[in-house]
Amino acid sequence: MYIVAIDGSVCDGNAACVEGCPVTILSTEVVEGKKKCTVSGATADCLGCMVCVEVCPTGAIKVTEI
Ligand code: SF4
Ligand code: SF4
Repeated sequence: MYIVAIDGSVCDGNAACVEGCPVTILSTEVVEGKKKCTVSGATADCLGCMVCVEVCPTGAIKVTEI
């Protein structure tokens, strides 16, 4: 199992991770007028493929195996 953590203070909402995630558990939402990424699906579905981490230009995502 994996924990997917997104640092909203760093995320710029570009959605590269959303488009890259093969199990579509990531999405963007507007928080206080700014687009941010969030884990909207079941974290248990995460494959640990690290695509989101690799495509994120701001280093906002961390995926940790537990
Ligand atoms: S590690 Fe892979 S499956 Fe998990 S959230 Fe990132 S892109 Fe999706
Ligand atoms: S790729 Fe990184 S900066 Fe872009 S929406 Fe995802 S977490 Fe945010």
